[in-house]
Amino acid sequence: MPDDRVNSFMTGPDEQGRFGIFGGRFVSETLMPLILELERQYEIAKTDDTFWAEMDDLWTHYVGRPSPLYHASRLTEHLGGAKIYMKRDELNHTGAHKINNVLGQIILARRMGKTRIIAETGAGQHGVATATVCAKFGLKCIVYMGAHDVERQAPNVFRMRLLGAEVVPVTSGRGTLKDAMNDALRDWVTNVRDTFYCIGTVAGPHPYPAMVRDFQSIIGKEVRWQLAEQEGEGRLPDTVVAAIGGGSNAMGLFFPFLDDPSVKIIGVEAGGKGVDDRMEHCASLTGGRPGVLHGNRTYLLQDDDGQILEGFSISAGLDYPGIGPEHAWLHDTGRAEYVSITDAEALEAFQLSCALEGIIPALEPSHALAHVMKIAPTLPKEHIIVMNMCGRGDKDIFTVAKHLGFDMKI
Ligand SMILES: *Cc1c(COP(=O)(O)O)cnc(C)c1O
Repeated sequence: MPDDRVNSFMTGPDEQGRFGIFGGRFVSETLMPLILELERQYEIAKTDDTFWAEMDDLWTHYVGRPSPLYHASRLTEHLGGAKIYMKRDELNHTGAHKINNVLGQIILARRMGKTRIIAETGAGQHGVATATVCAKFGLKCIVYMGAHDVERQAPNVFRMRLLGAEVVPVTSGRGTLKDAMNDALRDWVTNVRDTFYCIGTVAGPHPYPAMVRDFQSIIGKEVRWQLAEQEGEGRLPDTVVAAIGGGSNAMGLFFPFLDDPSVKIIGVEAGGKGVDDRMEHCASLTGGRPGVLHGNRTYLLQDDDGQILEGFSISAGLDYPGIGPEHAWLHDTGRAEYVSITDAEALEAFQLSCALEGIIPALEPSHALAHVMKIAPTLPKEHIIVMNMCGRGDKDIFTVAKHLGFDMKI
């Protein structure tokens, strides 16, 4: 059992919510009692079979789990090396992995008697998933979104409104995702009694990074038994690869393999126009420095004065200025490797997946696929790579059309 191992990577975080020097709980006095109560309630739910039975039921009948583990045979043949599998989380209800986690938090919120759910969203995917589950349970839903993002992401704003959510454009600060998160935290302190804050990635103060990871771990757990079914008992992937915004789909795939040293783990950050001094990227690990944001210590994109920078990527879902603290720790301990992929490389992978596999991927997992395209040809045929196809690309076709110079005329 992994938990008995001395050097386990699966035992974190400690009681203070720290993964090594990362994570923790950097919040105001007023927020502390809420965070502690959430932690207490999650600790109870975590070991309660009825909690997981409710999750399983909804994962099966509402989300559509398990998602398939698919051998991408033409892609494998084309690249001429390692055998490539895609974990098809883009087939989930709402089109991405985000709903895995939202369901967990909202079932917890219901157990805690909360009736009002708040969330922050950047590209709008987490907002849509939250609005969806709130509609399903008849809960009030308020989504904070940077004013600039409200303009850029009109289709998701409309989806959220159709689903009954109130979208609040955030104009404080620079009106970005970072500011939306700060406004959501302020709302939470003001409306303590009935409100639950649903965070969309493995960030925020403890217990959020661990809790979101636990809910997303269904991805890696399924991969374990699905690969054994297709490749033989006990067969583990040799390499697992996932794209990183805040890092939740990646932690979900990685976590169940952390204590299997034969499994190589690779996180792919958004390199935008290239990771250099221009800072036109979102690669917090490969191009950032440690600091404190949103209640935890982690690697952040910041300037020389410690001002948080807005990330840049073709993929709106990857432009979070930080990365989950557990990734920062896996990076510094060397358990996982982190690389970056540029916009241009991601666009190429996007097109290859369409042409060879009939799968239109979101731009986020296109980054993971682009890295697979780099390494697969260098590896032997027996080597198995599992990449997380964490979202579908319907939302991205307009962006891709623009970059490819295709005139949509709608
Ligand atoms: C939101 C999103 C991401 C980035 O979030 P993570 O927490 O890093 O997973 C990646 N892919 C898709 C499809 C998303 O919607």
